[in-house]
Amino acid sequence: MTVVEKKRPIRTCVACRSSSEKKELIRIVRRTGGEVEIDPTGKAPGRGAYICRNATCVAMAAKKKGLDRALRTTAPAELYEKLMQVVQENENAGR
Ligand SMILES: [Zn+2]
Repeated sequence: MTVVEKKRPIRTCVACRSSSEKKELIRIVRRTGGEVEIDPTGKAPGRGAYICRNATCVAMAAKKKGLDRALRTTAPAELYEKLMQVVQENENAGR
C-alpha cells in the first residue's frame, strides 16, 4: 500500500475530468460486497471514484455513466439521485 504524505491528495472528477483537491470532491465507493454508495468520510474501504460538488457534473456523470466506468460496476439510478440531493444541499448551504 502506498501512502502519500505531505502532498495534498488530488483526484479527478469522473464527469468533467478536472483535478481538484480530494476534499473538494465527493467520493463514491464501491464496497467489496458490490454496493455503490456515497462516502462522506472519504475513507471507506473499496474502490473509490470522485465527482465535483455541483449538479452539472452529477448530471453529466449520470448521462455518460462516468461512475460506472470508474467503479467498474453499474451505479444505480438512486445513487445519482442521492448525489444530486447532496450537491443541491451543498449549493444552498453556500449561500
Ligand atoms: Zn467535475
